[in-house]
Amino acid sequence: DKKAYYRKNPQTSRYRYINDQFLELNNPQVLTKFLAEGQFPVYLQPKLSFSDRKLAGAEALVRYIDKHQVLVAPSQFIPVLESSHLIYMLDFYVFHSVCNILKRWIDEGQEVIPISVNFSRYTLTQTNFLQNLKNLWKSYDISQNLIQIEITEGSESELSAEIVTILKEVKAEGFSISIDDFGVKYANLSLFTSMDFDVLKIDKSLVEDVAKNTKAQLLIQTIVELCKKLGIQLVAEGVETEEQFQLLDRLSCDLAQGYLFSKPLPLDEFTKRYLAAI
Ligand code: C2E
Ligand code: MG
Ligand code: MG
Ligand code: MG
Repeated sequence: DKKAYYRKNPQTSRYRYINDQFLELNNPQVLTKFLAEGQFPVYLQPKLSFSDRKLAGAEALVRYIDKHQVLVAPSQFIPVLESSHLIYMLDFYVFHSVCNILKRWIDEGQEVIPISVNFSRYTLTQTNFLQNLKNLWKSYDISQNLIQIEITEGSESELSAEIVTILKEVKAEGFSISIDDFGVKYANLSLFTSMDFDVLKIDKSLVEDVAKNTKAQLLIQTIVELCKKLGIQLVAEGVETEEQFQLLDRLSCDLAQGYLFSKPLPLDEFTKRYLAAI
């Protein structure tokens, strides 16, 4: 009964892979129930600084535990939630969870590191998005710079004028903006002139190329120079080998995220491994 098929996305006119198995998540009542029952655990993947290989941040990555207790990767169910535009419920749930994690660390006297949260562009364009974000945030007493909003630069299309406007408002509220998956298909350079952002994440496909292709090294070197001049932090994603790490270190990237150090971990494992209670 595992049907999968392609569906047209009305906003981009492109067909996307939709897994039929998760179509029940398109019902807001069902999704609300599953979220409340803890079926969407938030995992954390560490980001380490190239200079000392010490923990400098983390990314929140959601998973879904289905009715057979199988841990499902986001690539399987996020397209389903985007097609029904219910993705904002999940994104806000993750945002909420991250606020709780940070609050707990602060209360326990733990070392606190910034955590990034992925937001779908459908979430950003949701009515009252900024107001909802501010309301949620206000109920916590946490500094804004502990949260980064990650938005995919996009292999489908460049960031629209609408998204750019919303991201400017989010940034004006004090949140950091992180551009995800940079360099996947084509690097959209107008990104640098159309808005201010704080972090640029080099996609793992470009990171893979760096050890194989000297032109990829030149490209990254140029991006690094541009980012340094603009005060943008550079995160290399999908760092899997020591060779990649060494090359990216020499190219002066700031932070590394990838299996070389750790896969995304459940919260308690992350805490045990990376944060020492005081
Ligand atoms: P992303 O934001 O680009 O996250 C990085 C992905 O790369 C994660 O996949 C991570 O597990 C994987 N990764 C990290 N290091 C390595 C490595 O060394 N090698 C390889 N092969 N992979 C690595 P994951 O967790 O499956 O998430 C996939 C995508 O799903 C994310 O890509 C993000 O776009 C989306 N996503 C995850 N959580 C959320 C969420 O809460 N909301 C939204 N809207 N999207 C989410
Ligand atoms: Mg991300
Ligand atoms: Mg990415
Ligand atoms: Mg991605």
